[in-house]
Amino acid sequence: MPIDHSSDLVLLKSISEDSIVDALESRYKKDQIYSYIGTGQVLLAVNPFKLISNLYTPATLNKYKNKRPYENPPHVYALAEKAYKELKETHKPQCVLVSGESGAGKTENAKKIMEYITNVAVPPPLPGNKRKNKDKTQKDDAAASIKDKILRSNVLLEAFGNAKTLRNDNSSRFGKLMEILFDYGGGIVGGKVTSYLLEKIRVTQAKEGERTFHIFYQLCAACARGEYEELGLGTPDCYNYLLRTGEFKVNRMNDLNEFHATEQSMDAVGFTTEEKGSLFKVCAAILNLGNVFFVDAGSEGSDIHPDSNEAVAWVAFHLCMDEGILRHNLTHRQIDVNGEEFQKPLLPDDATRARDALAMSLYANAFSDIVTKLNKSMASTGAASSRIGILDIYGFEIFEENSMEQLHINYCNEKLQQLFIELTLRAEQEQYAKEGIKWEPVQYFDNEPVVKLIESKRPIGLLTLLDEESIMPRATDDTFAAKCEKHLKNNHFLPLGRTHFQIKHYAGDVVYANAGMLEKNKDQLNKNLTAMLQTDVQNDYIKSLYPRAEKSFKKPPTVSTQFKKQMNDLMDNLGQCNAHYVRTLKPNDSKRAGVYESDMVKNQVTYLGLKENVIVRRAGYAVRQNYDEFFQRYRLLSEDVWPFGTGDVVADCETILRSIGITSGYERGQTMIFLREPTTLFALEDARDDR
Ligand code: ATP
Ligand code: MG
Repeated sequence: MPIDHSSDLVLLKSISEDSIVDALESRYKKDQIYSYIGTGQVLLAVNPFKLISNLYTPATLNKYKNKRPYENPPHVYALAEKAYKELKETHKPQCVLVSGESGAGKTENAKKIMEYITNVAVPPPLPGNKRKNKDKTQKDDAAASIKDKILRSNVLLEAFGNAKTLRNDNSSRFGKLMEILFDYGGGIVGGKVTSYLLEKIRVTQAKEGERTFHIFYQLCAACARGEYEELGLGTPDCYNYLLRTGEFKVNRMNDLNEFHATEQSMDAVGFTTEEKGSLFKVCAAILNLGNVFFVDAGSEGSDIHPDSNEAVAWVAFHLCMDEGILRHNLTHRQIDVNGEEFQKPLLPDDATRARDALAMSLYANAFSDIVTKLNKSMASTGAASSRIGILDIYGFEIFEENSMEQLHINYCNEKLQQLFIELTLRAEQEQYAKEGIKWEPVQYFDNEPVVKLIESKRPIGLLTLLDEESIMPRATDDTFAAKCEKHLKNNHFLPLGRTHFQIKHYAGDVVYANAGMLEKNKDQLNKNLTAMLQTDVQNDYIKSLYPRAEKSFKKPPTVSTQFKKQMNDLMDNLGQCNAHYVRTLKPNDSKRAGVYESDMVKNQVTYLGLKENVIVRRAGYAVRQNYDEFFQRYRLLSEDVWPFGTGDVVADCETILRSIGITSGYERGQTMIFLREPTTLFALEDARDDR
């Protein structure tokens, strides 16, 4: 296989953002969507927005099996192969970090990695394969079923966690770490999913031109065909939560077919008929809740609008509870005065907010329950000795209006960027030090001050301030703004009056609106509604979504506290891994094939820090190879060392290099040979091909 010298950006004649953008463009035009920064180190993937023939066929997949990255054109399969190979050889945990903006192709590439690994890892039994050992066959069956569940989990999570947005028809509205667990021999023994921050506000407030989560449209489509008729669902335009956005269809997506795939995936991961029915009931209850409106009842608070009587009856039916109790709890809230409990009527706006909170809470809890069920069903069948984690998490977001959701997402990206810098730079430097090779440090933009600004406890950081304000009885968005201004003395933070503030993120400046942050952070369902779900609902599944808390005087943790903890756990987890990177890029905003907008790509090249990445790889040695492997692969180039060498492998490797005329540009490390220019590697490969 001749090597394509444009496949690695480290080989660019001059390094600038423009030259990177141009190099990617000329490859893109040839349907070469994958490139490297350092062969096999960082994979770049430009979204083709079309199916490229043969790119993901079984034959292509096979070509990458047991091969080193430089033996084939760049591909996400090559990266997956490398991660799996290193897992088998070192038994160290591996992770693949997939990053990029919305619609760039993170989820598609993450799925290809799972597909590759489940395919190559110790194979399931072939039909007709004569196996004498029954025990072994059973083990293989279990492995095959876990592989199946890992792949199907994607379908299930996408149905409930993905939605059409302006930027992506199948946008993931949650972050996901999928860990594949292996035994010592590299066989798959289990899987584990961790989900991060589902964008639950989308249930009740999807934007114009977008959709809420796919499952709602899937269910409507199924009902229209007479499936799950007992849910009594109509077409999507019957439901306020769906109607508001004005968008019901997704190009090239058939909601009914998708529903069947969702159902199959639920069956495969072990949902019972009853569990499926209950989960769909929750979805139907949510849709009907959106059709419940309130009217002013004078000083009395609010009443349910007469036109909403039917909707309320449906909600009560789906939640399996008394309609009168539901009506009361939608329009009242419990307050405690001096230890005594009162029922306070809610004004229509407050009742509407409580209604939406109920809908979001039901959905978010059902989603977590799906994740829990998935994990039970993929639980390890044997002792897991190591893992490969695949992280597909939201990219950096700047919208016209940015709120707490964007703050969390962008904070997450800061943490990942920090990890990326730490892992790549540190890993490089440590390796050079260990091997006794000289190294010139390269400066990267250090985003530590921004991370500190957001998460620090002392001096007090933004999220800690938000938490403190969230428990103050009389705090408002305004008092929060005032505290930020007073305490956050940091050049990455700029207060903008009392309504907004700006953070200078590594990827750009973002203006956030204060409005609603405290409420979102508290994220509490009022006492009436919580108690109702715990006691008045007669459906065990729904009840199980609301376990009674142990008696405790502590407030439940805020959204920020939970997220911060999740992020720190994630960083600890990833920090233990040998990391591999996929950086996905989006060539245009209109989801069109063949359109490459240089300005747009350049923007992403900048904030992904690709130029610095190339510089780091170039500053050091682009290629490094273990002496033995190098010798094995290239010994045929020199008669002086063929076939068994002289006994001095270091000298033999140098002899090989000299045999193709290379006398400088390499360095001898303790265990590895370092080649400064990747062209040296290509020369070696070409010479090998000529033999
Ligand atoms: P989000 O952050 O919104 O979840 P994402 O980065 O996960 O975005 P994807 O959903 O993976 O983006 O990709 C968006 C769309 O782009 C896909 O639905 C698919 O149509 C197309 N696409 C992405 N990668 C490829 C690919 N390698 N080949 C063909 N089409 C692709
Ligand atoms: Mg995605």
